[in-house]
Order: sequence, then C-alpha cells, then structure tokens
Amino acid sequence: MRTTNKLGYLAEHGPNSIMLNDARISKLLDELDLTHRIIAADHSSAKRFIIKNGTPLAMPTSLRKILFNKVLTFPTLLRLAREPFITKSPNLDDQSFADFVRHRLGNTMLNYAAGPFVNGIYAGDPEKLHFRLAFPRMHKVASDKRSLILAAAKKPAPDPNRLRKKEIISFQNGMQELPDAFHKKLTNLGGKILTEISNSQIKPSPNNNWSYHFSHQGTDHQQEFDQIIVTVPAHRLHTIQFPENINLEQTKAIYHPPVASLLLGYKRTDVKHPLDGFGMLASIPEKTDILGALFTSTLFPDHHRAPTDHVAINVMLGGSRNPSIACLPEPEMIATAHREISKNLGITSDPIFHHLTTWKKAIPQVNLGHENALNELTKIEANNPGIKFAGNYRGGISVGDCLINGMNI
Ligand SMILES: Cc1cc2nc3c(=O)[nH]c(=O)nc-3n(C[C@H](O)[C@H](O)[C@H](O)COP(=O)(O)OP(=O)(O)OC[C@H]3O[C@@H](n4cnc5c(N)ncnc54)[C@H](O)[C@@H]3O)c2cc1C
Repeated sequence: MRTTNKLGYLAEHGPNSIMLNDARISKLLDELDLTHRIIAADHSSAKRFIIKNGTPLAMPTSLRKILFNKVLTFPTLLRLAREPFITKSPNLDDQSFADFVRHRLGNTMLNYAAGPFVNGIYAGDPEKLHFRLAFPRMHKVASDKRSLILAAAKKPAPDPNRLRKKEIISFQNGMQELPDAFHKKLTNLGGKILTEISNSQIKPSPNNNWSYHFSHQGTDHQQEFDQIIVTVPAHRLHTIQFPENINLEQTKAIYHPPVASLLLGYKRTDVKHPLDGFGMLASIPEKTDILGALFTSTLFPDHHRAPTDHVAINVMLGGSRNPSIACLPEPEMIATAHREISKNLGITSDPIFHHLTTWKKAIPQVNLGHENALNELTKIEANNPGIKFAGNYRGGISVGDCLINGMNI
C-alpha cells in the first residue's frame, strides 16, 4: 500500500479500497486510531459496469432491474431460472472457477458477470483458478445449499463478526495511512521496524528458539526469537535462507502475473460518460487491452482524488490472461490505456495527468494445484513450532482477509 499525492491527484500504487464488513477490522482500525480518518465510498459506487462490445453497461443491482438490463440477455435469465434445479457438480471440491460457473449458471454468466469479477479481484484466468480455494465462501454455499440463487435471496446465518452495513472505505489521505498507522502504533508500543534489510537467515537455536540473522545498513545482526512470522510475498521467499529441512518449493512456485495500475486524469468536460459508478470491468470475450478501470474521483468525490472539475480514472492492465501488456514501456502503456478507455467512455482529449505503478509480480494466483503449496506450509509449521507463514497467498488476497488472517495469527 502506497499513496502518491501530486498536482491535486491522489494515486494509489496498490489497493484502492478496503471492504469493511467485519467488526474485527473496525476494531483494529479503532486501535490504530484511524476511525476518524475513514472515508466511505459514495453511494453511486454500488453501480458497476461491464464492457460489452466497447460500451460500459450497468450490471443490474436489483431483481426489478435484472429484467430490463442490457448485460444479461433473456436466454441468460432463463438459464439462471434453471439454476435451483441443477444438480451439484460431482467434482465441486476440485474444479476450476470457470467450470463451476458454467455448470451452475451457464456460459454467458461466466463471460459477462463471474469472469469479469475474477478479473477485478485476481487479475486471473477463471479457467485456471481453483474454485474452492479462491472463493471459499461461495464454495461453502454451493456445498451446503441446493441453489446459489435461493441462498442469496435468504437472510444469511447470524455471524457475530459481520457488520450490519458493509462499506467500501479508504482514508482521507489514501490507503498508505494504514501501514503508516501500524508503524506509529508498533513503534509506540516499543516495537522496532527495520526496512531495507538483506541477507535474512533463519536458523534453529537451543531452547526451541529461532535465531534470525540479517544485515541492515551495512551491519550484520543476530537475534533470538521464540516465534518468527514470515510475511514476505510468496515470490520473495527465495530471498530468505531457511534451515535445510524447510523446503518451500511449491509455495515459491506460485504464479504472480504482472499488473500495471495507471491513474489517468482528464478535465471533466472532456469525458462524456458520467462515471457514475465504481468502475468498469472487461467482459471475457471483449477484445480490449485493459482489465478494467476504477472511477476513483467518483468513489471518494469529496476527498481530493482529482482537482476541481477534473476526473481520475485508475486503469488496470495485464493479469494472467494478458501479462505482456503490463510490461509495456510507460509511453506505450499510457497510449494503450487512453485509447481503450477513450472508446469506452467517450474521452475527447489526451490525459493531463498520469501516474504508473508496474507490479512485475502482482497477485498470487490460487490456481488448480494451489493446495500443494498450502499443504507444504501446514507441514512445515507442524514440524517447526514457532515458525509461521502469512500473506495473501494463504486465506484470501483482499486487504480485509489479510488483516483478519494476520489478527488470527
Ligand atoms: C494493483 C493492485 C491493486 C489491488 N487492489 C486491491 C483493492 O482495492 N482492495 C483489496 O482488498 N485488495 C487489493 N489488492 C490485493 C491486496 O492489496 C494484497 O493482496 C495485499 O495487500 C497483500 O498483503 P500482504 O501483506 O500479503 O503482502 P504485501 O502488502 O505485498 O506485503 C509484503 C511486504 O513484505 C516486504 N518484503 C518483501 N521481501 C522482503 C524481504 N526479503 N524481507 C523483508 N520484507 C520483505 C515488502 O516490502 C512488503 O512490505 C490489490 C493488489 C494489487 C497488486
């Protein structure tokens, strides 16, 4: 999480928002003294667009709207009506997300609803994502209930952690306020945070402790701990030297496709589309070079996301299905993103602001086979008490999931 404020625009390098739906996250934000810094997304952000044949079409948000929507055709709605009568897939526990959706909801739902949703969360390939591990809550409903649609229409089972109202939030000065608050809190509690460390090495030491060796600002250090929690991304595990019996081959091999996050700024009058929603996601069959875009100045309209009379659009490019696009040089990337969103949103001038962050290894893909990595970690932790692994490759990639998994650990 990192935020850049420049020329009146606010650019997020990584996540743009957090889904606040769990009381444990509210409590944590309170403990970090962040409650008064929270900003909630504008109500218009409930609307989401799917790009179909070059046009962003609003996804229906209610049953009444579903009958008159332009994204899902009448035959698709008929197919949806059959869902409660479709038998459970025999390999529900081990199928791809695409296979699950095709079986229960049909191919059009995969192309124009569920598939784009996967692009938005994982920048992934629905044909490769492991349904049960990538979407555990949906998998539980699919296992326990006869129908996804009937289950969605019912009141959810009581959960003491679920907040009555869920909100998409950020902070007044952007997402970086969260790691900054952790830094302040941990330092105040007497904790020590060192960055830019190198030569990390973990070794067993007497009394069932662990010895941690590292270099910081040219000096070598060594310290004993009873517990070590390793929270570096899976693709950075190779930078730590573990004892010989800790073999992380499966975890190190998790695929992280590249993703580029490009904020483009325009004058409001140069964009025909009202940008009246959260953003737009490309449908699966769409011939476009972008994954989608967030309408960030709509999301948090009163919080300096763009100068007055300007708009900010955060375009995402790359991901599992189109990784090479995320590696374009900056001028080509800007031209590509601008060309694509100009078609979709009726933009009549060049961008007057840009801020690019390229993540060469962005989001861990919870693909078929991911279970091997999870089993590897469970085994290592059982055989090496005191060593734990946490991060977005284990138990959910959203910021909310990472916070809750962190608290559990
Ligand atoms: C472009 C993008 C947009 C996203 N948007 C959203 C969103 O809007 N909402 C949402 O909920 N989620 C979003 N996500 C996902 C979410 O941000 C991540 O999954 C989550 O932040 C990962 O948290 P983490 O702690 O596992 O890893 P990270 O946040 O990557 O933290 C790992 C830390 O380890 C450090 N590190 C690396 N190597 C070493 C080493 N050798 N020694 C010590 N430290 C090391 C890194 O510097 C880093 O600080 C987005 C992700 C990306 C890439």
